[in-house]
Amino acid sequence: MANRILTGIKPTGQLTLGNYIGVLKHLKEETERGECFYFIADLHALTLPIEPEVLRQNSIDLACFYLAAGIDTSKAHLFLQSSVSAHAELNAIMQNYLYMGELSRMTQFKDKSSKMKESAIGLGLFAYPVLMACDIVLYDANIIPVGEDQIQHVELTRDLVNRINNRYGDVLTLPKYEVRKVGARIMSLSDPTKKMSKSDPKGDIFLKDDLNVIRKKIMSAVTDSGSEVKFDEENKPGISNLLTIYAALKDISIEEAEKLFEGYRYGDFKKAVADVVCEELGAFQEKYRQILESKQYVKVLQEGAEAAQKVANVTLKRVKKAIGLLEVNE
Ligand code: ATP
Ligand code: MG
Repeated sequence: MANRILTGIKPTGQLTLGNYIGVLKHLKEETERGECFYFIADLHALTLPIEPEVLRQNSIDLACFYLAAGIDTSKAHLFLQSSVSAHAELNAIMQNYLYMGELSRMTQFKDKSSKMKESAIGLGLFAYPVLMACDIVLYDANIIPVGEDQIQHVELTRDLVNRINNRYGDVLTLPKYEVRKVGARIMSLSDPTKKMSKSDPKGDIFLKDDLNVIRKKIMSAVTDSGSEVKFDEENKPGISNLLTIYAALKDISIEEAEKLFEGYRYGDFKKAVADVVCEELGAFQEKYRQILESKQYVKVLQEGAEAAQKVANVTLKRVKKAIGLLEVNE
């Protein structure tokens, strides 16, 4: 079977450099490997409180960011998760095949819910991996490019696929995650022991930040008291993170980056990182602005939804039949 590649991003806030390096930057080249399904995970964005207008604006922004990443829409379908009702329908089925115990062990749930009062934690946040599994299997996707934080959810999807296939025959396609060698987990500049996250408003690099602000944030990134530019995640998490950012954007290995900065002082090293980030994001922002103004995302999302619906409905029908839901329209 030809490759099917799927990835989603939640319109929960301003996209960060982490989203860009971990996923967005590579989506263009993925279109060479197979049929791509890229979506705006707007149903997932509802798992934490969000204002309607903010959600709408974030969704438009995200569509423009996907397009600014240079994806060829004749090879990649870009769509809103909520435009394809099969996601919600399959979710109603699959929630019966994933269990409370395994969902409670998910790191993302633990991280996000630990900051909340129990009475405010929605069921959707807990059941997030069920919907994510549906997102994946609906398209028979076999390749799932993600950042490191989503590996656990793809693993759980694999468990679900095996569970369903063992019970009902060969119904679903087994997916595999792919993370980048360099940049699968970009850390926060203000606290390099924490993942950079768009729902965390504190001092991370947002893709729409003014270039001067980006430069300032990098120059004041937390580092250690030493003086050597060396990759050592345990003792030098801040420097290691900046080396990762540089290497990922330049498409070189960490070792190559380390060599380049041998003998550099922290200040000069940070300046070089800021230069490369500003160069890349400056060009990216320019494309984003053009796309936003031209409103070309509207047609792209309409066509993307149509193409996605076709594929998703076939899978949904196959699942319904396999598990014994009576079909009277055949
Ligand atoms: P949120 O805080 O809302 O969860 P997020 O920044 O984690 O926001 P997601 O929408 O959850 O973004 O994830 C979109 C994609 O970006 C996923 O594939 C995720 O693994 C990847 N990603 C997120 N953060 C990083 C990061 N710091 N480094 C690399 N990849 C990341
Ligand atoms: Mg996340």
